[in-house]
This record gives sequence, structure tokens and C-alpha cells, in this order.
Amino acid sequence: MSQETKHDQTNCLVVSKTDDVVTRKIETRPLSADVGDTIRISVEYSSLNYKDALCASGHPGIARKLPIVPGIDAAGTIVSDPTGQYQVGDAVMVFHASFGTESDGGYSEFIDVPQHWVYPIPAGLTPRNCMVIGTAGFTAAQCIDELMKHNVVPDSGDIVVTGATGGVGICAVKLLAKLGYRVVAVTGKQDRAAWLRELGAAEVLSREDVNDTTGKPLLPGRWAGAVDTVGGNTLATILRSTKPQGCVTACGLVGGVDFDISVFPFILRGVTLQGVDTAGISREYRAGIWDKLASNWAFAGLDDLAIEVGLNDLEEKIEAILAGQIAGRVIVKVNV
Ligand code: NDP
Repeated sequence: MSQETKHDQTNCLVVSKTDDVVTRKIETRPLSADVGDTIRISVEYSSLNYKDALCASGHPGIARKLPIVPGIDAAGTIVSDPTGQYQVGDAVMVFHASFGTESDGGYSEFIDVPQHWVYPIPAGLTPRNCMVIGTAGFTAAQCIDELMKHNVVPDSGDIVVTGATGGVGICAVKLLAKLGYRVVAVTGKQDRAAWLRELGAAEVLSREDVNDTTGKPLLPGRWAGAVDTVGGNTLATILRSTKPQGCVTACGLVGGVDFDISVFPFILRGVTLQGVDTAGISREYRAGIWDKLASNWAFAGLDDLAIEVGLNDLEEKIEAILAGQIAGRVIVKVNV
């Protein structure tokens, strides 16, 4: 793409709400001739995270404005950069707490974003495989980074991963296995057990195995650590089943937001509950995790983790991810 290439419109997926009815449709919008001090990017790929599906449903906690273009992830190439930091054609990705929630996101052929939302694609990765990883894979990496900070190492014992076939879960299984941990994957999709083992799980459990309803304040210690994407009673069960000095990272809510637990795992076993929030971290920390994902944490076989769809195919995938039916990552081919 040359410096002189001009674009005056962009196709994008727009979520609107009229009379309490949420609609999604592909629209063609004009592009501003004057980008001000924002960077214009041609979006090659975005991805579908659970949060994107909530935004696409008009969830008031996620879609902070309507109409909105969802997509919390985007990667592509620079079209213009008035700040002079990037050259036309440089490969970049975009992440920010507001992107795809308070501001329009990555489900658009062209986007204009502030400079501090833009990150260079690390050497060794492409825009496409950065989107296979996406916010989901980044979250998995952040959870594992937290486990390590809490001295949970491969010799500490088993690490349980819930929602294991989901985007965060599958990346956590693969990355933990690569780093030498023994991974126990929990899934509601027993037909995916063999796939989870291929990707690195040593054991596969059903959701019921980590959903204790006895009310006992402590359960036999099984886990040195956890990556929990489910929340609710699953998170409470895992905390009650974590071994002394273990660490449970909690990032998700697909199974519920509330949970009931006594203080005993914390005061009798020294268990840590570590929350993980990818939106609120510093630019330096984010770049550091991406550098790891491009080097000693790089996992092979990224393409096996994702299916690719176009903007036109998103409708079905949005409904499927909300129903917990997607296995692996969905990447969105936007403007290649
Ligand atoms: P996905 O939809 O890809 O994966 C979620 C998985 O959870 C499903 O595939 C399913 O896996 C399992 N699941 C779905 N519904 C239920 C249920 N009712 N009870 C138990 N398990 C269920 O989502 P993502 O991986 O993109 O995200 C996972 C969670 O992490 C979401 O809540 C998301 O909002 C959160 N998240 C948080 C971030 C943060 O910064 N804190 C960043 C990124 C994600 P299976 O069938 O294998 O059990």
C-alpha cells in the first residue's frame, strides 16, 4: 500500500439499539479526510472474544455507546501516521480498554486510533497470528505470569484450567503445557477431550467435577494453581480445592459473577486469589507479555487453534460463543 493511497469509506459491523431491540448489520461509513493526530490502520484481522459477543448484544456494561462497532482486537498495517512513529505499511496491532467498548473497535476495514493504542507486531509474529492469540491468548499469558509471580512452578503440582476449549482456556492449556506444567483441563465439551490432550492437557475433567455443592469450607487440596475463566461456584470450588500456598487466577465470568466462600482457603492454606484484568495494565507490561509470546513463550501450531470467518459470518459465531459452543479461537478476516 503506498503513501498516496486514499480511502474514503470503510465497511464495518455496526451494533445499534432501537426500542430496546439490538440489531447488527454491515454498513459502509465515510472515512474522514482529516485524521487529526490519530493513526489510520487498515485492519487485516480482528478476533471474536466473549467480550465482543457481549458488546455485539448491546450489553450495557460493555457497549458503552450505541451504535458501536465491536472488536477489542485489531491487527493490520499503517495507512497514515501524522505522529511519524510508523511508516506506511508497518504491521501493528491495537489494544486499549476503550477500543471496541467506548469507542468503535476492530470490525471495520479502516480505523483511526490514538498513537498510544498502537503496538508494533513483535518480530516473528504476523498480524494474523497476533489475532489468533488476541486478547484471549494474552489473558492466558497474563494469568500464567501471575502464577509464576506467586512461585507456582511446574514442580508445584497440577494447574487446573476451566472453560478449557474457550479462547482463554485453550491458550492457557497450550502455553502451560509448553512451559512444563501438568495441566488439568475442565470442559463441558467431552467430545473435545482428545483435542485438549493433543494440545497439552494431561487430564480432562467435566464441569461437574469442579462444581461442588456440599457446602464444605475446604475440599481435598488438588491444585497448585488455576486459570479460571468461569467464575461463580466453579471459582469457589477451585479455591476450596487449592493446595497450601497455591494461586488461583480469576479472569472470567461465563458461569456466573457471584460466589460464596469462607475465609478458610485464605487463612488456613494461604491460598491467593489473583484477579486478572487485561484492560487496566500499563503499556510497558502489555508490550513485555507480547515480547514473551513472540519469543520464549511462543507456541507452535497457532493455526490449529483458530477458525477464520469474514465480517458477514460473524452473526452465527456471536450467538455460538454466547452459548459456550465455540471451541478455540475465531479470527475475523477484515481487509486483506
Ligand atoms: P469463550 O466463550 O471463548 O470461552 C468460554 C468457555 O467457557 C466456553 O468455551 C466453555 O468452555 C466454558 N463455558 C461457557 N459457558 C459456561 C458455563 N455456563 N459454565 C461453565 N463453563 C462455561 O470466552 P473467552 O475465552 O474469550 O473468555 C473467557 C472469559 O474470560 C469470559 O468471561 C471473558 O469475559 C473473560 N475475559 C476476561 C478478561 C479480563 O481482562 N479479565 C480478558 C479476556 C477474557 P468448555 O465448553 O470447554 O467448558
